[in-house]
Amino acid sequence: MKPDQPETAAPPDAEARRAVAPVICYPVGDLPAPDLGLYRAARATLVPVSEILVPPREARCFRVAAGQFFRIRSVEGPQVGDLNLWNAADLSERFYSGKTRALHGTHLSTGDRMWSAFPHLRPMATITRDTLDWYGFDSFGGSVHDVIGTRCDPYTHCLLSHGDLYHHCCHSNLTRALAAETGLAPGEAEAHVHDVLNVFMCTGFARDTGQYFMKASPVRPGDYLEFFAEIDLLGALSACPGGDCGSAHSSDAAACHPLRVEVLRPARDALAGWTPPPVNGYDRSHGA
Ligand SMILES: [Zn+2]
Repeated sequence: MKPDQPETAAPPDAEARRAVAPVICYPVGDLPAPDLGLYRAARATLVPVSEILVPPREARCFRVAAGQFFRIRSVEGPQVGDLNLWNAADLSERFYSGKTRALHGTHLSTGDRMWSAFPHLRPMATITRDTLDWYGFDSFGGSVHDVIGTRCDPYTHCLLSHGDLYHHCCHSNLTRALAAETGLAPGEAEAHVHDVLNVFMCTGFARDTGQYFMKASPVRPGDYLEFFAEIDLLGALSACPGGDCGSAHSSDAAACHPLRVEVLRPARDALAGWTPPPVNGYDRSHGA
């Protein structure tokens, strides 16, 4: 946090320096654009393939083939989900929350894409429907579906609680789910767990201190966030122990509900002309 009483005196032109207008780092219009018209037409033909129910304070894995869609749906009550994505054929290609944030902003919605880590850096999934898109940004600067938090985890909790061991943080839930899905030992699986898309979570940064905040999610049963799988995906979703994340997390104190993951496929000819995006074109020579 910035100090209340800075040690350094402001220079004479401090206000002029502060008044310099910002520029957007990454103009999103320069990115290869998703063909949302094609995706909208395809989603009108969707039929169910499979579904899983993620129990409260647990995580489950699911697989989605390139060209299929998946929905994360609120059932029973307000609940936040922590989402990890991997290339189903290569766990080293995983969701890159930080670059997705830099490209699309702090909170995602329809048309935004989930980008994979270097050296792949390509769209893994594109958001095609968000029933909470009406929320926008509230008066606190909060919004839903953030890529600014990381995931609740037992290490931070151990620090903040001075030694308490809690095993159902999203980080641990995702670790157990990935281990169960892949056969990896938990210690190996943990290394593949990464910063998440916080589905339905309502978060922001406090305007005065810049601190990360959360508030009760506006999600209600029936709401969903829908994605188009750009490549073959292995996903893992944790139903956060924070429930709607309106108060506590990293404990069993909050009311928690399951989340449903629905996989759907479009009609065979609905994606005519579409192909999965290639891996990034940079040659990896780094000037060496
Ligand atoms: Zn969590």
